[in-house]
Amino acid sequence: MKIKCPQCRGERTQTIEEDGRRIQDDCFHCQAEGFISEEKYLADRMLAMANLLACDVVERHKRLENSREDGEGWAFHAAESGMPEADYTFAAVADEQQRTLVLFQKLDQGCHELVMSLVDRLAPEDESLFVRDKPEDKTLPLKEEPEESEEYDDIPF
Ligand SMILES: [Zn+2]
Repeated sequence: MKIKCPQCRGERTQTIEEDGRRIQDDCFHCQAEGFISEEKYLADRMLAMANLLACDVVERHKRLENSREDGEGWAFHAAESGMPEADYTFAAVADEQQRTLVLFQKLDQGCHELVMSLVDRLAPEDESLFVRDKPEDKTLPLKEEPEESEEYDDIPF
């Protein structure tokens, strides 16, 4: 099975805005191959999960800052650091996303199954990206694996 690049959806190019003009460029994400490896796809989904959680954490942080009595809300802190509020928020999400990703990578070493179920839940696979082998490839008889063994394959002990 091949997996289409989620960025360009297998088109190998992407449209980017430059100086207000829309131009076609090679897709960065898949190096213009149109497809990505299973490892990269999983890493993408881990990142998507980390981003989802990071956005939530920053949103809560923002609400907390804005509810403070001293009136120094989120916008104040943005101004203090010399950034437009949107950039300040973007940077905060990027930081939080990196922290979350590192945390999940650590957790993955000991609790792979748990991390996989979290990824499946929070950043589910996109079936429309999968390009399955054509039916004529079925000339080789498929060997059916017994179902029970499949589930335990990944357990490292
Ligand atoms: Zn691509």
